[in-house]
Amino acid sequence: MNETIFSKIIRREIPADIVYEDDLALAFRDVHPQAPVHILVIPKQPIVSIAEATAADAALLGHLLLTVKQVATQEGLDEGYRVVINTGTDGGQTVFHLHLHLLGKRMMTWPPG
Ligand code: 5GP
Repeated sequence: MNETIFSKIIRREIPADIVYEDDLALAFRDVHPQAPVHILVIPKQPIVSIAEATAADAALLGHLLLTVKQVATQEGLDEGYRVVINTGTDGGQTVFHLHLHLLGKRMMTWPPG
């Protein structure tokens, strides 16, 4: 079992500003927002990262992307948004429970830092 701070958020042991929930996924606002809208979409199942995902997770991964789309619509991100999945040390991942960053309501730059 991969126990992280996100497991505690799923179990409501620590507070979070939750904006969406279903049987498979949870979405909540990032505590250190990098954009006016910065939401994390996570699976309730504690997959460590994309690098640890398997073919058995294909439907869940698709569901997470569609959840991002739904939350983006809910947040009024009509002008676009960015979806980021930091993976591993070089990817800048700090919480080892898979999460999709949904960033919006500002113009993004490229390349990312
Ligand atoms: P990573 O760097 O792993 O891609 O992203 C982890 C994200 O989780 C960071 O953006 C960080 O601000 C956010 N985060 C870490 N701890 C908490 C927390 O306790 N609550 C919330 N809402 N976000 C957190």
